[in-house]
Amino acid sequence: MDKIASFQKDHNTLCPGLYFSTRICGVETYDLRFKKPNAGDYIQNAALHSIEHMLATVLRNGPHKDKIVYFGPMGCRTGFYLLTAGLHYRTVLSMLKDAFAQSLALDGVPGAEKSECGNYAEHDLNGAKREIRAYLALLESIGEDEIAKEEEKENA
Ligand SMILES: [Zn+2]
Repeated sequence: MDKIASFQKDHNTLCPGLYFSTRICGVETYDLRFKKPNAGDYIQNAALHSIEHMLATVLRNGPHKDKIVYFGPMGCRTGFYLLTAGLHYRTVLSMLKDAFAQSLALDGVPGAEKSECGNYAEHDLNGAKREIRAYLALLESIGEDEIAKEEEKENA
């Protein structure tokens, strides 16, 4: 079988960040890399699960809610994938900064009742906020050089 795009990326050199990955049928995939791959530090399952609920909720209530196709965790627990319908890197970066900041203000995990979730006992709001704070600081540090590099990839 062919090696798919996400496995072609060199995980030995991949650093935490926000990356444009692919555009297929008008749907962009963004790689929200929270952790350096294979470095022994992974997002704990409960925090990973809570971040999924928090961001999915905030993004689907935000200014680009009609262009959010999917938000969910990577199985390796080093980050998340965001799929959008026609959102460019610069917009996604700014949207995510707002969304993560808004998630930090939540005083509970949305959709965490037994009737709403497949594993409602496995949530960690404080753990999620710790990971979000660290990733938000990283997003704030992304400068024009990095933005230009990702825009080049998305326009290729
Ligand atoms: Zn759930």
